[in-house]
Amino acid sequence: MCDKLEEYGTAQNDDALIGYACFVRGELYYHRNDVVGFYREMLKCMEPFEHIGEWGYLAMADNMLGIMSLNRGNAPFALDYYYRAESICKQYSLPDIEWVVQMNMGALFLSVGSPDEAIKHYDIAYRYILDHKEMPSFRQSLTAVAVGLGRSYMQKDDMTTASRYEAIIEVQCTPYLTKDEEINVYCFLARYYSEKNAPDEKNHAIRKVIGAFSPNLAIMDFFDDLYDFLSLLLETGDYTTFSSLLAPINAMAEKTAIKHMEQRLLDLLLQFYSCIGDMDSYKKAAVKFYENEQIMVHENDLMIKSMIKLRQSFYRLSEENSLIYAESRSFEKKSETDPLTGMYNRFRLNRYGDVAFRRGLKNHTGIAVEILDIDFFKEYNDNYGHQAGDRVIQYIADCIRKLQKDHNIFAARYGGDEFVLIYENYTEQEVFALAKELKQIINKGHIVHEYSRTSSKFVTISQGVYWGIPEEDGSVWHFLHEADGLLYKVKTKTRNSIMVGHLPIYTNGRTDNSEGVLVTEMEDGN
Ligand code: GH3
Ligand code: MG
Repeated sequence: MCDKLEEYGTAQNDDALIGYACFVRGELYYHRNDVVGFYREMLKCMEPFEHIGEWGYLAMADNMLGIMSLNRGNAPFALDYYYRAESICKQYSLPDIEWVVQMNMGALFLSVGSPDEAIKHYDIAYRYILDHKEMPSFRQSLTAVAVGLGRSYMQKDDMTTASRYEAIIEVQCTPYLTKDEEINVYCFLARYYSEKNAPDEKNHAIRKVIGAFSPNLAIMDFFDDLYDFLSLLLETGDYTTFSSLLAPINAMAEKTAIKHMEQRLLDLLLQFYSCIGDMDSYKKAAVKFYENEQIMVHENDLMIKSMIKLRQSFYRLSEENSLIYAESRSFEKKSETDPLTGMYNRFRLNRYGDVAFRRGLKNHTGIAVEILDIDFFKEYNDNYGHQAGDRVIQYIADCIRKLQKDHNIFAARYGGDEFVLIYENYTEQEVFALAKELKQIINKGHIVHEYSRTSSKFVTISQGVYWGIPEEDGSVWHFLHEADGLLYKVKTKTRNSIMVGHLPIYTNGRTDNSEGVLVTEMEDGN
């Protein structure tokens, strides 16, 4: 099934299909304890997932690579994979995957003897689990995290806190677990009762582990617990149970071809032979240990190579991604910016206008749209030249920017000698005051315009402003249209003036302009 999916995906050049096929196959190998197959498939799924931005699967793949690396005895590599998984989860807000990663990070720190670090990570997972009692694996997850925390506190010699987690396990977990799931609980309890000098409870836990043990267990999920359990048996001189369990556990470890697991078991076996004084067996085991060590050096090289390959592809990809991002941002910027003034153009106005309108609608706050237009600009161009005209347009843009500095105003060049401003969260009177302020800023420049047919001999502007509180059936275009109507009124009347209006529903204005908009404020610069 997966092979067909990958074949089809490759033919179609479909990264999603290739990614899923490899991931599922990798998971399958993981459960079959086939390390080589697992590595191959997991590494293969990463690039396609990165291409299509399938971050959840990518984080899960990293997480599993972490588990595998830790089982192979490479904690620094495992940590690297886990950190990558963690940062993907944080960046793309994937708390439902992150808690699993946090739990594994806890296990990693526990295994290297850093209980404080372990607790930090376990705690994050613990809080998530308690907040999600509805998840199907709630009991199993609670068990795993409580065992992890219990072991961490034991490692710190804090038996008081450890017993809190022991109580949680006994009350909230054990009654709900299947036999398989009981293994790590009773491995933990055996250690816990041993520390507490409670032999009866300890022996009960040991019997439970033996009863729950089966050679079909997913050894990678239980190895640490079983290893600790075997160590406990050795420490307490329970050689019979130790020998009865070591062989089947070793057979399972051998099947995974993870030399590190075998080595850890061999280490226990060496201790065992030494305890019982069987020097012949001890020597044989020591030779095997040495041979394994040689193979592990080679295995480690392979692991480092695959890690480097992955790192390189990851860096290459993130470089590509940031390049694409930068390019698309600059393209976006270019296409939304007016080249003459550096101001936003009407494309950006479209986007911003909609957003401002919806914001006003949601918050029941006023917005205002102003259109301003340079008076007799054609005459300016015709008499002073196009370049001088350009400078006037740039000057007006600079004046608008001055006004924007301290106020919540959006501005765009609408085209030609027209600009549009959007005011958010101001009353009609405040908007009127701001429009007047802009006129004053512009007037301060005293740019001579001998050919203006207003009463001023300087460059002036006309402004139409429409104010209102957005309503469900309206749009920013309605505001723009009304502002344009008011500007038209100014242009046909006097120019160099401001007209501010709104719908009659809100207040009583001075002049009814026959289109239903009440003009409340007028400023005549002439
Ligand atoms: P009104 O007072 O009614 O607005 O008169 P006006 O002359 O300003 O209006 P009209 O729309 O007739 O002319 C606008 C002029 O603006 C026409 C064009 O030459 C000039 N114009 C448009 N874009 C640019 C530009 O980018 N640079 C320059 N220099 N002039 C421009
Ligand atoms: Mg004009």
